[in-house]
Amino acid sequence: MLELEVAQERIISRVQPLASEIVPLAAAAGRFLAQTIVATVDLPGFDNSAMDGYAVRAEDVTQASSEHPVPLRVLAKVAAGESSAIEVTSRTCIRLFTGSPLPHGADAVVMQEDTRLVAADPHLVHVLDRIKPCDNIRFRGEDVKAGSPLFEAGQAITAARIALGAAAGVAHVTVAKRPLVGLIATGSELREVGQKLLPGQIYESNRSALATLVEQTGAKAKVFPLLPDEPGAIQHSLEQALAECDVVATCGGVSVGEFDFVKNAIERLGGKLEFWRVAIKPGKPFAFGFQRGKPLFGLPGNPVSAFVTFLLLVRPALLRVQGATCVSLLRHPGILAEPLVNRGDRRHFVRVAVDDRGAVRLSGIQASHRLSSLASSNGLVDLPPGIAIQIGETVQVLRWE
Ligand code: AMP
Ligand code: MG
Repeated sequence: MLELEVAQERIISRVQPLASEIVPLAAAAGRFLAQTIVATVDLPGFDNSAMDGYAVRAEDVTQASSEHPVPLRVLAKVAAGESSAIEVTSRTCIRLFTGSPLPHGADAVVMQEDTRLVAADPHLVHVLDRIKPCDNIRFRGEDVKAGSPLFEAGQAITAARIALGAAAGVAHVTVAKRPLVGLIATGSELREVGQKLLPGQIYESNRSALATLVEQTGAKAKVFPLLPDEPGAIQHSLEQALAECDVVATCGGVSVGEFDFVKNAIERLGGKLEFWRVAIKPGKPFAFGFQRGKPLFGLPGNPVSAFVTFLLLVRPALLRVQGATCVSLLRHPGILAEPLVNRGDRRHFVRVAVDDRGAVRLSGIQASHRLSSLASSNGLVDLPPGIAIQIGETVQVLRWE
C-alpha cells in the first residue's frame, strides 16, 4: 500500500502534457499556458492622469490652500483618447480626465475636487490644495514593462489574466489541448437515474459528479454507459474508452471482492498496473496504470471514496496533462470549532464545512457512502493516524472549488 505523496508523485511524474494549440485569449479561461509570454508593450502605454482634474507644474501650487488659492490659466481640454501638443507652462494648466495623456510640461495632476472654477472667467481655475510632483499620474510602464514576462508557462488563465493580456494586446495564446476523460462505472446493482429500481438496486451517482470535477480542471468528460460486474463487458468498454479518450477513469470493482474485475481487465487489455491501494481513508482501493501510453485510473465505487480519490490523485494528473504547474488542491488555514480525532491507522481526509470566518466543523458522519456529509462540505482536512486536534487550533483545509 503506497503513501499518498508517493502515489501522487508516481502519477505526476509519469503523465505527459498533451500537444498544444493556439486559441483566442478571451476563449481560454480555465486553460493553461504552454508558453511564457513576454510583454511587447508598456502598461500603461503612456503617462496619463489618474483623476479628473488639471495637469499642472507642481512648483506653481506648492503653497496652494483654500485660504490662499492659486489661480491658473486653463490652456486646453484633453479628453481620454485625445492628445494635444500644447505645453503646460508656468501658471497655466490643462483640463484632463481619467486616462487623458499627460501634456508636455506638466509633472502633476490636481484633482478636480481640489479646485474651484471662477465664474467670471471660464479660462481660470483656482487650486485649493498643494500638490507634489508626480501626484495623480499613472506613469508609462509602472504596471508592466515591455520585455518583462507577462505570463509564465503553466499558469492558469483566469479572468484577471484575460484582462491583463487584453490590456497588453495579447489576442491569442498557446495552451495545452483539453484532454477527453472517459468515465466508466461498474456494478450490477447500478441503474441510471430515471430508471425503475428493483429491490437491491441503487442509482448510479459517481459519473456525473466525476464529470463535474473533470470539467472543473479544464478537461472534458465523456460518460460511458453503465456496466454490470462482468469481465467481458468491462474489458470491452475499457477498450472503447481507451480508443476514444486521452485518459480513462473507472469507478467500482477495484477492491478485493469476487466481483471486482477492473484490475484484471486492465491487465488483460495489455495495460500495465503501476500501483494499487493507497494508504488513505476514504479510498484505499485505488488503481493506476497505463494502456498504450494513456493513463488509467481505477477509483473505488463508494461515492465519497471516488470523489476524494479523484481530488487527491486524478485531478493533479489531469492538470499535469494540461501543462499546469500548480496541481495540488489549494490549502486555506481555518480554526477548528470542534475537535477532530483520527483513531484509525490510516490518514483520514475528513469532510469539513468552513464558514466565511474560517471556522471549521465536520460536515457530518464520515462513512464513505454518506453523500449528505459530502454535499454539505466545502473542504477536506488531512488527519494523520492517531491524532487529536483541539478546538481553536489551526488546520489546513484543502479546497476544490
Ligand atoms: P465497489 O467499489 O464496487 O465495491 O462498490 C462499493 C460501494 O459503492 C457499493 O455499495 C456500491 O453499490 C457503491 N457504488 C459503486 N459504484 C457506484 C456508483 N457509480 N454510484 C453509486 N454507488 C456506487
Ligand atoms: Mg461493485
